[in-house]
Amino acid sequence: MNREEGIKRVYGGPHLVILGAGASIASALRDPEVNGKPLPSMNNLIEIVGFAELVEGISGDNGSSNFELVYSKRHELDPGSASLRQMEEKIEAYFNSLRLPPTPTIYDYLVLSLRRKDLIATFNWDPFLYDACHRHHDFTDLPRIAYLHGNVRIGYCAEDHTKGLNGTNCSKCDLPFIPTRLLYPVLQKDYTSDPFLRSEWNAFSKFLKHAKLVTIFGYGAPDSDVEAVDIMSKAWGSPNERNLDQIEVIDIVSEDEIRNRWDRFIHTHHYDYTDNYFQSRLAMFPRRTFEAYMHQFLPASIEEAFQEPNPIPTEFDTLGQLREWFTALIEAETTSEFEDK
Ligand SMILES: [Zn+2]
Repeated sequence: MNREEGIKRVYGGPHLVILGAGASIASALRDPEVNGKPLPSMNNLIEIVGFAELVEGISGDNGSSNFELVYSKRHELDPGSASLRQMEEKIEAYFNSLRLPPTPTIYDYLVLSLRRKDLIATFNWDPFLYDACHRHHDFTDLPRIAYLHGNVRIGYCAEDHTKGLNGTNCSKCDLPFIPTRLLYPVLQKDYTSDPFLRSEWNAFSKFLKHAKLVTIFGYGAPDSDVEAVDIMSKAWGSPNERNLDQIEVIDIVSEDEIRNRWDRFIHTHHYDYTDNYFQSRLAMFPRRTFEAYMHQFLPASIEEAFQEPNPIPTEFDTLGQLREWFTALIEAETTSEFEDK
């Protein structure tokens, strides 16, 4: 099946993409944040956000500079500590100040490479995903989003269960959205008592249960988040029951480590690994990731089994040029009999 035929073959099937800090770091390394601000990981967050003075003298963390260890230790000693609130304020202000550059970033590629039938679940506090969706939402239907740890751009209306940009109003009751609480790294995470987080996790778990194709991009499944991996594992079930489902991992750590980390999810050889977004299914078969997966594993014909990739060029000067590249794909979707749900 050649590239042209691949563009025209449109049907459905959910693709779930899970994002961690590594995705935002990869995006900012390739296309720097508009003011050149770095994207922190847990290992350098204290230094980058700049609150070393607040963490001095925390006993029991063995002088660690890992934010997860430092925060959870302080929280264990005194959950009401003023220094915790000060750290949180600094973190929220830092992430809130981040802006995508005006040129195409990995986040722009990502949101345009999926469809409304797909879901991106993110653990990230930074605004890149929201901002990328925001600048393309007039152009085409975009994937749905679940913010698993809250997000600096997102507010919530608990009355109507709606979410939207902080500073705007709920479309149902017209009251301002309440900013979502960022979920910090404490040992006992609580994914159920906050109504916003509960609804995001419900949507995510439901999706994971039925997903045939899952991409995990830059998410390290940290030790401090055992609970998240447990919830995911429960929704996914045993790898033996998922022997036709495929997991793809985009990460800079070694393949051995990845195989180990996701052992509870991966069935024998049913996984792909790459350290580069542009080698992933998302970049090789944009907006046709599910179709390409079906053709690879359950081809209806010999032609289907050999599908030519439709790799997206890695360089575009403007967002307009990037969007232009997608028009043939989007046109084929609007004229196809299949309707995205
Ligand atoms: Zn409302």
